[in-house]
Amino acid sequence: MTAISSALSFPTARPRKYLGQHFLVDSRILTRIVGAAQLASEDLVVEIGPGKGALTRRLLPQVARVVAVEMDGDLAQSLAVRLDNPANLSVICADARTVDLSEMVGDRSYKVVANLPYYAANPIIRSFLEANHPPSAMVVMVQREVAEGMTALPGKMSLLSVAVQFYATAKKVCSVPPTAFRPSPKVTSAVVRLDLLAKPPLIESEAPGFFNLVRAGFSSPRKQLHNSLGHGLGIGSTPASQMLEIAGVDGSRRAGTLSLREWLDVYRVWVGKDGC
Ligand code: SAM
Repeated sequence: MTAISSALSFPTARPRKYLGQHFLVDSRILTRIVGAAQLASEDLVVEIGPGKGALTRRLLPQVARVVAVEMDGDLAQSLAVRLDNPANLSVICADARTVDLSEMVGDRSYKVVANLPYYAANPIIRSFLEANHPPSAMVVMVQREVAEGMTALPGKMSLLSVAVQFYATAKKVCSVPPTAFRPSPKVTSAVVRLDLLAKPPLIESEAPGFFNLVRAGFSSPRKQLHNSLGHGLGIGSTPASQMLEIAGVDGSRRAGTLSLREWLDVYRVWVGKDGC
């Protein structure tokens, strides 16, 4: 430690690669993220991975409270001091993939705003989308390919697209070059806004069955759907063709061309709720 950092008790350790530590240094991107969150003074924001607080510093003056979840013990411990001990900041040192926020958030509405660590972005987003008390919206920085997957339209859909669009509408905010971070990552990033649906299209107990079907459909994404579904569900391609025909979906299409609505139609036939 240098004399100054020692006096301030800030850790000088190198960024921890295994925690995906790429700190944002581009103020225009910070402005875009905060703008996309459309914050109001009464808002409660959960920030995942505040790191050294570049984004936290922008959020704090705009909202009622920021709950920051940081897995790096040194960064979590020093965050409040770095930011001059703001009264509306709570810091939790935990893994955002498994953290229980019920005590901090209760039944209040909240938003998630984050520059996510790449290695854990998918499970973190998934845990918030599937939470008993999900956020009203999420504005997250992720790897560009993940952003494209989340916001894809029929023709380029993947399992990730269906999984995200089942719970939320997804819109890309902007692309972010590696130069916006220190240290620079090897990949391009993108900011995405997710607006959670008031109600997902199926009740909670049906979601696992629905995603089993979709996963089966994507098991061989280059094959025609009657083949990939027939194989993935273990029913053979002729029953799969019949199921797709009843659902009004051409069995010669590929999984990536179906919209969420079409997957729901196929699911309803699969569970015998429609047409059979
Ligand atoms: N928000 C800061 C910024 O924009 O400069 C840092 C973003 S950096 C990409 C990701 C941050 O998430 C790091 O501070 C890292 O320590 C933290 N982190 C990594 N894995 C985490 C996890 N599973 N749960 C919570 N925080 C995590």
